[in-house]
Amino acid sequence: MNTTKAWVASAAKQPMKLEVLDLGPFDSEEVEIAVEHCGLCHSDLSVLNNEWGLSQYPAILGHEVVGRITALGPNAKGLQIGQRVGVGWHSGSCMHCRQCMSGSHHLCSKAQFTIVGHRGGFASHMRTHWAWAIPLPEKLNFAEAGPLLCGGVTVFAPLAMHAKPTSRVGIIGIGGLGHMALKFAAAYGCDVTAFTSSESKFDEAKGFGANHVVSSRDSAAIKKLAGNFDLLISTVNVPLDWDIMIGTLAPNGRLHVVGAVLEPIPVSAISLILAQRNISGSPAGSPVAIETMLDFASRHHITPQTEHFPMSRINEAFARLESGKARYRIVLDADF
Ligand SMILES: [Zn+2]
Ligand SMILES: [Zn+2]
Repeated sequence: MNTTKAWVASAAKQPMKLEVLDLGPFDSEEVEIAVEHCGLCHSDLSVLNNEWGLSQYPAILGHEVVGRITALGPNAKGLQIGQRVGVGWHSGSCMHCRQCMSGSHHLCSKAQFTIVGHRGGFASHMRTHWAWAIPLPEKLNFAEAGPLLCGGVTVFAPLAMHAKPTSRVGIIGIGGLGHMALKFAAAYGCDVTAFTSSESKFDEAKGFGANHVVSSRDSAAIKKLAGNFDLLISTVNVPLDWDIMIGTLAPNGRLHVVGAVLEPIPVSAISLILAQRNISGSPAGSPVAIETMLDFASRHHITPQTEHFPMSRINEAFARLESGKARYRIVLDADF
């Protein structure tokens, strides 16, 4: 397949239009995938609107890709034609730097973002480096698996790195990322608290596995949790009362940021020093982290709660995401 039908954004904040494109030369380490489903992540919207100043146009967005392999370069390893795979935020890395050689390909300084200077999954076909085409477990619900590939691993990785089943974990922001974080943390055995500004989400948060739900606008209720959490994962992209939030961390506790809030987070050194607290962040996850997350999700029957749109209604789906009304993650089904 040398051509693809793709939904193309020609400039920032413009509606996407269907185009037929030449995919160009097929690299020997590349894999070509016929897209079946692709999740819509908030980062797609941020790149469409050039919020981070790194977008490249024309852009083909979509980085929660589920599809079948239709072609393999001669040097693509460990995959087969027809195999169902997923592709997330990254679709390439140098494969020889210290980070790649130690398994942290997502920290490679040359890591290729799937939707920046590379064609993403809102298309009939897309290509990726073989290391980033992750085989999907047979028992996984493929139609719902897309959001696991970016949003899922983004919240799973900090749990795998920093939580134990005995941990008290707080998830800040119950949206696309946060609702998956609740499911993962609950399945892992943690005592899970959901923080949300929307009272309409209280019951659903409990349904996703939260043991406790707290309004993120209720400073008095949050203050009562002082010294409580071993791990807080923040998925929001708006500033919070960080002082009070950090105050809810137990000694050795950690605030882990995966929501791309643009405003700086002010931190009191004393609060970190005296309770030996940590603040950290992480981008998506390595190929092995994605594979581990998919295995865990399959074993515990974890899927995101989704709304489906045919890909031909992509602009409507983006508007729905932008409105903040999506519950909780949108998946576009290929209909070329
Ligand atoms: Zn994403
Ligand atoms: Zn590298």
